[in-house]
Amino acid sequence: MGLEDSHLYKDSLHALKQAADIINLDPNIFERLRYPKRAIQVAVPIRLDDGTIQTFQGFRVQHNMSLGPGKGGIRFHPSLGLSETAALAMLMTFKCALVGLPLGGAKGGVQCDPNDLSRQELQALTRRYCLEIAPFIGPDIDIPAPDIGTDAQTMAWFMDTYSQINGHAIPGVVTGKPLVLGGSMGRTSSTGKGVAMCVQFASKKIDLNLCESRVAIHGFGKVAVPAALDLKALGAKIVAIGDITGGYFNPEGIDLDSAISHVKKHRFLKGLANVETISNEDLLELDVDVLIPAAIDGVINAKNANRVKAKIIAEAANGPLTNDATEIVSRNGAFIIPDILCNAGGVIVSYFEWVQGLQHFFWRLDEVNKKLSDILRVSFEQVYENSQKYHINMKQAGVISALQRLEGTCRLRGLFPG
Ligand code: GLU
Repeated sequence: MGLEDSHLYKDSLHALKQAADIINLDPNIFERLRYPKRAIQVAVPIRLDDGTIQTFQGFRVQHNMSLGPGKGGIRFHPSLGLSETAALAMLMTFKCALVGLPLGGAKGGVQCDPNDLSRQELQALTRRYCLEIAPFIGPDIDIPAPDIGTDAQTMAWFMDTYSQINGHAIPGVVTGKPLVLGGSMGRTSSTGKGVAMCVQFASKKIDLNLCESRVAIHGFGKVAVPAALDLKALGAKIVAIGDITGGYFNPEGIDLDSAISHVKKHRFLKGLANVETISNEDLLELDVDVLIPAAIDGVINAKNANRVKAKIIAEAANGPLTNDATEIVSRNGAFIIPDILCNAGGVIVSYFEWVQGLQHFFWRLDEVNKKLSDILRVSFEQVYENSQKYHINMKQAGVISALQRLEGTCRLRGLFPG
């Protein structure tokens, strides 16, 4: 598959082109943004527990670094390829620019199913992947973080490997680390917290009373759980959640605490009490006020978009709505909170972690959450203003807000050699 061949790359490029046309972006800057600065593919051989050796494909793509070092997660997922990684890196460029961080866009990962690997195998995979991309990353170059299939433990192994290679501890090479290794308060829940904040901002724009609202969440992982807890605390009723085993529905509201302990015990939601089991397809089409696709890209597409009934669609995952779906649901009157805004809480607190680490001075949780909400509020308003000014949906407006910042930076930095 070529660099531009995945659906996600095509969709991201299309969104870039649409936004560029609306604001008459300098064609040279458009041309520059349509390709990554650097796309690295590496072989990641590891010894499995049974003694055999398996070689996995690893990737790191740095899309644009005109605002600062590259930033973006590491994904362990069976369908990850170079093209998806490049698309996700482009989304990171937009995300960091949109929320005003001094960081560029990058993404990486390994094509594997982490559920099939033991802890020892995962550790070996992480360390060898780190070794292979080590020449291209660093606290001032490109700073990975968790994404789908990776977590704080992965970051600890990654940071340790990078530090071993360099002969001294370099915690700033990754964010999303465990607290004792220089992580930030609030990083684990930050993406979900940001989603809940954005839903709150959106509900005000469309006069939706969150206290009486019904919410369906496609997913029940690192992003979905804190988002669900915060929305419940705001008075919303979480009527559906889902994972790879299916969707789980209770019109009276899911008992989140039991769902969390069920997953802790059984890994998946399957077998959860007091719920009706539905398919994930049905979950996306439930008659709810807020729909939060918090799992993987492309779940709302040309096939099912017309059946989506939610008034607010909060893109907690990266790219859950295809371009076709975005047009359809917008035409049907839904308010979209675009991924590059909706799930930006994660990278915002990653940025805080990086800053705290560089200063060796750590903040309290309430400071972290206050700063997070300040950034998201301003960014949300900026995107909303663009959507009103250009009469476009919030997804297009999000890319425009990002391009407005990137265009200025690219122009000021100029071309080298001139
Ligand atoms: N993987 C997350 C994202 O897609 C976080 C990236 C980061 O913290 O660098 O935004």
